[in-house]
Amino acid sequence: MSWFKIPKLLENKEKNFSLFLNKNRCGGCQACVYVCPTGILEMGGELNMRIAYTPRVKEGKGKYCTACKRCEYGCPDWCIYILDESEKENMAKKAKA
Ligand code: SF4
Ligand code: SF4
Repeated sequence: MSWFKIPKLLENKEKNFSLFLNKNRCGGCQACVYVCPTGILEMGGELNMRIAYTPRVKEGKGKYCTACKRCEYGCPDWCIYILDESEKENMAKKAKA
């Protein structure tokens, strides 16, 4: 799967970043939920291909994500991460050139 198609858990248009989750790689360990300093993540009720529950953003709390990347650094499966959208746009431009 291309990283362009990995679903976003949230998008902050003002600060130009997004939080992505590669759902089917998630082992459901909940580390991201515990390390998030703003407490915006919770485990959802849907099982993925690994038969694990995956995290989601609490309703209405996406705006409190600070892009600190603690969830990204704490994830043992490398499946949740922050992406600077301006970098993504630059990469897309380079790929087309
Ligand atoms: S980047 Fe930081 S604030 Fe945002 S979800 Fe991850 S741990 Fe929480
Ligand atoms: S830390 Fe990674 S593997 Fe663990 S629940 Fe969060 S996204 Fe899934």
